[in-house]
Formats: sequence, C-alpha cells, structure tokens
Amino acid sequence: MASASASLDDLRDGDRENPREDEGPFECRSCGVCCRDASDGRVLVSADDLLRWKRQDRTDILGQLVPGHFSQLGFAARPNGQCIHQGTAHNPNDCSIYETRAEPCKAVEAGSQECRMQRRAFRHLLPAR
Ligand code: SF4
Ligand code: SF4
Repeated sequence: MASASASLDDLRDGDRENPREDEGPFECRSCGVCCRDASDGRVLVSADDLLRWKRQDRTDILGQLVPGHFSQLGFAARPNGQCIHQGTAHNPNDCSIYETRAEPCKAVEAGSQECRMQRRAFRHLLPAR
C-alpha cells in the first residue's frame, strides 16, 4: 500500500497531464483498480446510499459497514486493502453489488485523470489486454 501511495504522489507531480493512447480500455467492471485501495472505511457511503439499501432490504451490505472519516460509515476492506465487495464468481475485479454500489464508487469517471492515475499506480493489477 505504501508503495502505491508513493506512486500516486509521483504521478500527481509528474505525467498527470499526459494521457497515453495505450492506457485503455477503461472498463470498470473488468478493471476494478479503484476498489483495491479501499482500506477499512476509506470508501464512504452517503445518506442516500443508506436509505436505498434500507429500502432494498440489503442487510448484507448494511451489516458489513464500518466507521469511516467524518463520522460517516464506509465499506470494510480485506487485509490487502481491497473492498470486501470486489470479486464475483466470474471476475475477481468486478463489483458484486455493482447495481446498487455507493455514490463514491460512481464518482471516479472511467478515463478521467484520477482514473488514469489509479491505473498507472496499480498497473501490475490491470487485466491483460
Ligand atoms: S474508474 Fe478507472 S481505475 Fe476505476 S475501475 Fe473504472 S477504469 Fe478502473
Ligand atoms: S462497492 Fe463495488 S465499486 Fe464500490 S469500492 Fe467496493 S467493489 Fe468497488
């Protein structure tokens, strides 16, 4: 995790303005890099997320939330920092609650600067092309 943060810092100072044509495809459900730097409570959930999961009776999601920053709740993570909801029977990078994932999960736009920085920092985890 520490080396990944260092890489992100390097990228913020370095080539963030220089997207390369060979960086894609930006397919979130087969990439999942965003979900691999999600240490306990780091991915916060919103009040609207909580309401929606209550309406949907998603006790499986609600019951696994942990304290995050700013008195909010967030997703728990595995020991390696990966969100506990990452991984399906068909794809280890996919989100198992994709249809009802939290608002912050949708905030990083595929192909955006933040997306590209994450993918460069975790290049070794990207699916083979
Ligand atoms: S936003 Fe970018 S880094 Fe995050 S999952 Fe999608 S393609 Fe991967
Ligand atoms: S809920 Fe899904 S999209 Fe959000 S961080 Fe976890 S695995 Fe990623």
